[in-house]
Amino acid sequence: MEDIKDIKPAMNSRRGNIEENMNTRITTRAEKPPGVEGVSNPKHTVYDSTVPHSEHASHKLKSTTDLDLGPEYKARLQAALEEILSKPRKGTHVTDLVLCNRLRVFREIDPLPINAKTLAIFVTGMAIHGVAQWLFLRDSRRFEREKHLEFRGVMGSADILDKIRNIPIEFKTTRASAIFEPKSWHVQQLKYYMAILGASQGYIMYQLLMHFGNTPFRTFKITMTVQERKQQLDKLVKEATSLNRAMEARDPSLAKPVINDPALNWLCKGCQYQVNCKRIQQAAAAA
Ligand code: SF4
Repeated sequence: MEDIKDIKPAMNSRRGNIEENMNTRITTRAEKPPGVEGVSNPKHTVYDSTVPHSEHASHKLKSTTDLDLGPEYKARLQAALEEILSKPRKGTHVTDLVLCNRLRVFREIDPLPINAKTLAIFVTGMAIHGVAQWLFLRDSRRFEREKHLEFRGVMGSADILDKIRNIPIEFKTTRASAIFEPKSWHVQQLKYYMAILGASQGYIMYQLLMHFGNTPFRTFKITMTVQERKQQLDKLVKEATSLNRAMEARDPSLAKPVINDPALNWLCKGCQYQVNCKRIQQAAAAA
């Protein structure tokens, strides 16, 4: 199961920059698009803003009818997201803690190009989150979107907060037609938010992307006592301290992996750092 939260750790605080960044120059990592020197059409010539004016010699211009700009447009999406995600992020985020801590360190010290799958998850997730939040905000006196939360340097943002009842709501998507219980890492994330907010209840709302019937949404209510919220805050600080130690040392071997966690080791299947992670595991086993 995948959802936007897999990549949201690196994008939440940058949401406001997305539009701006979509117009920025394509980075060298992305597939080099064809025809970037400049294009012309029968009515007027259009120059690519990423190329200095002096390079726009008329002999370099091509007719738009000769160009297939599809690869360029796809590359632009990928390059823009890559640029957004490659910017250093301040502080520790709840979403860093609920997935693979080791993966978080790898991504920090050795960022790799964004692949099409990650881009697709991002686009779908952003779209669904954005529309769901927009609909809730029809009643802005009661609901707030991306409610910023912070506890001892650990930050987070609830997708929606019911301000009247102090209830956080998280939106999730799943490529399934049914879901019978919430995913453990989604529950953990919500529990951290509830603990920071002092909320006794919260909700996870799933959209079932492969459900084509009349019940494509499923909500799960999570409750916690005062004592449980205190335990969650203690756990939050402990986990953040451990991750920060590995981040500061820029050493993935110091960060907790999920390889032996049956609830989370699905992450390993598509992990771009799997080879290096296995080396760490082998070295630890041999020591
Ligand atoms: S292979 Fe698994 S445990 Fe290792 S960094 Fe990737 S997701 Fe984490």
